[in-house]
Amino acid sequence: PATARIIDGKAVAAEVTDSIAAMVAARGVKPGLAVVLVGDDAASQVYVGAKGRKAAELGFHSVQHTLPAETSERDLLALVAALNADPAIHGILVQLPLPAHIDTTKVLETIDPAKDVDGFHPINVGRLAIGERERALVSCTPAGSLLLIKRALDRPLAGLDALVIGRSNIVGKPMAQLLLQESCTVTIAHSRSRDLPAIARRADILVAAVGRPEMVRGDWVKEGAIVIDVGMNRIAAPERGEGKTRLVGDVAYGEAAARAGAITPVPGGVGPMTIAMLMANTLTAACRVAGLPDPQ
Ligand code: NDP
Repeated sequence: PATARIIDGKAVAAEVTDSIAAMVAARGVKPGLAVVLVGDDAASQVYVGAKGRKAAELGFHSVQHTLPAETSERDLLALVAALNADPAIHGILVQLPLPAHIDTTKVLETIDPAKDVDGFHPINVGRLAIGERERALVSCTPAGSLLLIKRALDRPLAGLDALVIGRSNIVGKPMAQLLLQESCTVTIAHSRSRDLPAIARRADILVAAVGRPEMVRGDWVKEGAIVIDVGMNRIAAPERGEGKTRLVGDVAYGEAAARAGAITPVPGGVGPMTIAMLMANTLTAACRVAGLPDPQ
């Protein structure tokens, strides 16, 4: 029997975006978000469309640039430079992955750090690492995950043992930095870690960002722990009919829910938070340009 509280990411994301819409109206700022898509990757098209629609819905100035897959690196860099110079644009998001002939690092480093709403520019990564979160823009998925952790906890994070499984630049590393900033004792595990189940059983907060369906088993979870499942894995679901698939996380949900204190479902947990935090970063960027305090 599942005992864990279910952390409703959809509901928290809706609270975040409602307060953003209210702040846009109250502060008289018009955040501008430019989303750039190169090529015709189907998943990327879905993500980019969702981001643009949400921005428009919140009263942002929302533009999408869709470029053909054969776009040269030079042309893409020129577009980024033009968006850097455009005062109506406060946030620039270049959807990844980019086609292989384009140097992703070069593109990301060309984005003005003040407009880098994905938080991938080394300046923003560095500011987070030196403890200057208030001057940084932070990667959306970890920032959203932290918000869910805070909502789920009935006590301060300081001193708790946190485990992040995964060390990607997009999720694992910034997640670990955020938890460190909250004074957790942070462990970062990865594919070379030894005896992961034993490490996991010590964690008061367990964040899984691996990309392996249901890798984290119920008996890895400490009684009462907060479990944040970032994983989004599409697996075959023959029980739903031939050729059907379903989305599962990196955590075996049923087993883990029987031991955790609170847990995010997949879908409906971390996923909805990512877009909400992108909107929050864009509003933050716009407020900073206008000399207004960061929205809370
Ligand atoms: P990456 O593939 O970049 O990183 C995966 C990490 O998991 C690596 O650090 C890797 O270790 C580690 N790993 C792989 N196998 C194991 C293992 N057996 N034991 C322990 N660690 C392991 O993935 P991302 O960080 O980009 O994404 C992770 C997951 O989160 C994916 O499922 C992705 O779809 C999802 N995601 C969800 C988002 C959302 O909005 N909800 C946003 C972004 C990602 P090593 O470094 O040693 O190779």
